[in-house]
Amino acid sequence: MSRLTDSFHRTIDYMRISITDRCNLRCIYCMPPEGLVPIEHKDILSYEEIVRILRVAVDIGIRKIRITGGEPLVRRNVSYLIGSIKNIEGIEDLSLTTNGIHLEQYAEELVDAGLDRVNISLDSLRPDRYREITRGGDIDMVLNGIEAAEKAGLRPIKINMVPICGLNNDEIGEFAKLTLKSPYQVRFIEFMPFDTNMWSREKFIAADEIKSIVEGIGSLTPANIRKSGPARYFRFNGARGVIGFISPLSNRFCGECSRLRLTADGKLRPCLFSETEIDLKPALRGGAPDDEIERLIKLSIEAKPEGHNLQIQNTELRTLINANKDYKRPMSRIGG
Ligand code: SAM
Ligand code: SF4
Repeated sequence: MSRLTDSFHRTIDYMRISITDRCNLRCIYCMPPEGLVPIEHKDILSYEEIVRILRVAVDIGIRKIRITGGEPLVRRNVSYLIGSIKNIEGIEDLSLTTNGIHLEQYAEELVDAGLDRVNISLDSLRPDRYREITRGGDIDMVLNGIEAAEKAGLRPIKINMVPICGLNNDEIGEFAKLTLKSPYQVRFIEFMPFDTNMWSREKFIAADEIKSIVEGIGSLTPANIRKSGPARYFRFNGARGVIGFISPLSNRFCGECSRLRLTADGKLRPCLFSETEIDLKPALRGGAPDDEIERLIKLSIEAKPEGHNLQIQNTELRTLINANKDYKRPMSRIGG
């Protein structure tokens, strides 16, 4: 079986694919209120183009695929894409990240098409606050979506929350308690700075601090679960679910990064926080053979940096964050 490694001996076996930069929400930590200028339709990869790239990528060592966006479920016929990807021999895990708004509508057909798992983003359990954070979202649609995902058999259900000081940090405990009765993986993700959001040092809460807040409710023991990413997992005594902490800034996990990202307009991006991108579209649309696609994928892995330099560990952090110019494309454009 082929294996891809980068210049720092990391195995690269995971590709995140953004299938659209469009979204039906405007979360304040992700997008400006007016949204972003959308990528033109002609520049968005077709499903056939995505599948072709994946066939080559899986052939040389990619094993895990996550579909994301923007909001992936606003693109038409995502189940068709899921089915086509599932047919590629060698894929071991196929998941999707969604805001959950359309999940009730699509959960069952996504499972029928071959989807293994979902991550659902939810940053407040209070209807008014959810509406405020997402600039208009209806929390009932997400809650119904989570229920539908459970019923459809998508497991484990991961719920991603981004705690932001003064906005939703007072709900960290409530989110953690969800794991007492439900078999969810509730994951807290550190708030990251992008050009398009309202990041500031004062609003940032480091993962260790979030963990201390959770420990205020009950003691945590390390959870021995099969990990597929950088989260550190714990559980409350007797809880059905687990709690994860993801610390891209306070304790970067670049040393174990196994990812490559493909943007909706066909650019391979070796690191979320670097502007380096390798455009596959000219080759795809210019009649290049699969060998050329393979060469470009390998090139992008070669370009994978050892780590990002957004560090938040010491007093220099604000200067560092403000001085760093490497985070221009927002998450919705790169594929979070
Ligand atoms: N629309 C889908 C969703 O919200 O799940 C998928 C795309 S979204 C960009 C993917 C993930 O990125 C979400 O879990 C979201 O919370 C996270 N995200 C977006 N902006 C972020 C930021 N500034 N800091 C941390 N996480 C962020
Ligand atoms: Fe849309 Fe997801 Fe960004 Fe929210 S986090 S604006 S749902 S892409």
